Amino acid sequence: MSGSALFETFTRAPLAFDHGEGTWLVTDKGERYLDFGGGVAVNSLGHGHPHLVSALTEQAAKLWHVSNLYEIPGQSRLGERLADATFADKVFFTNSGAEALECAIKTARRYHFVKRHPERFRTITFEGAFHGRTLATIAAGGQYKYLEGFGPKVEGFDQVGFDDIDAVEKAITSETAAILIEPVQGEGGIRPVPTQSLKRLRQLCEQHDLLLIFDEVQCGIGRTGKLFAHEWAGVTPDIMAVAKGIGGGFPVGACLATDEAAVGMTAGVHGTTFGGNPLAMAVGNAVLDVVLEDGFLEDVQRKALLLKQGLAGVADEFPDVIEDIRGSGLMLGLKCAAPNTKVNMALRDQHLLAVPAGDNVLRLLPPLTVTDAEIHEALNRIRAGARGLSDAITAAAAK
Ligand SMILES: *Cc1c(COP(=O)(O)O)cnc(C)c1O
Repeated sequence: MSGSALFETFTRAPLAFDHGEGTWLVTDKGERYLDFGGGVAVNSLGHGHPHLVSALTEQAAKLWHVSNLYEIPGQSRLGERLADATFADKVFFTNSGAEALECAIKTARRYHFVKRHPERFRTITFEGAFHGRTLATIAAGGQYKYLEGFGPKVEGFDQVGFDDIDAVEKAITSETAAILIEPVQGEGGIRPVPTQSLKRLRQLCEQHDLLLIFDEVQCGIGRTGKLFAHEWAGVTPDIMAVAKGIGGGFPVGACLATDEAAVGMTAGVHGTTFGGNPLAMAVGNAVLDVVLEDGFLEDVQRKALLLKQGLAGVADEFPDVIEDIRGSGLMLGLKCAAPNTKVNMALRDQHLLAVPAGDNVLRLLPPLTVTDAEIHEALNRIRAGARGLSDAITAAAAK
């Protein structure tokens, strides 16, 4: 055996955290890091949120798992709450984002199947998309680096350019079932899709009897300052995949759909062993308790503006490091002028954690509970990191 016993699939930073407190992570050596990566948009309410801890521990003392052979009251409750808060009528719970997407894609295919159009199984997706790492979701994402070496790409995905709605129109055939899109691309580099484009996609779906699927795994659950990012555009999907933030760190995913879109998802056609188990549902309900509290999302919007304006100031000061600030709410991207991995390292040296994304972007995804003081502290650290990198770039150029 060479090195560790783990698959070499992850390149890990040489940091091990022992515990977390709100927006802070503490290493095994007692060093404190400001966590603006949030476990890639997962720790929506920070670390050790008292309401989540008590929901999980109370449930842990009662009942962990029973399978979906029985009623799970917490699951019915979370399903109803999600339906009440959204376009959806029905919910299927999963353990991850990719599984929520699998369910979404299967739901769209079954819809056409029961409408006597089994030939309509294809889904249109967008360049730069990320939908997960299962065989179907790497096909949906369409990125060569994730597809290479894994055999024939799963059939049924047609990709067009990012925000190229004319190309979508041309790509629709008699075999098309659905259009799948992230309202704000996450891994692709924090790229929001313009409202006008989402509206046109909705119209195309009406015209051609296609199902519109939103992947809100990263941008959902308050991340952009609305419960779901598509609310900003006033466009609703037929099906939506959710995960990451909904569990606040516990593995939870969900596929939401209208009654009409879910018409083919009848008894026995789909399933999961762990999905929607009592532990996951206790935490999911607790996350919603907080996010749906009066004024919570308005406060996210206010804090997001504070952070974005501060970042714009840093970008103005160090244009050789940060070119632009993009994104919405507390899902912000630093479009880097220097390599994003270097900017990430510079911030890590300042004990601030962020997450690289495509298009040379560095993502900032702090918990929605981040305080004003922590935002100011983060801005100080980002400024210090950018200054250090800018000085190094200037020194290298002078040589
Ligand atoms: C993370 C992510 C996924 C995949 O979620 P997993 O839980 O890793 O399977 C899918 N879509 C988007 C937009 C994501 O950000």
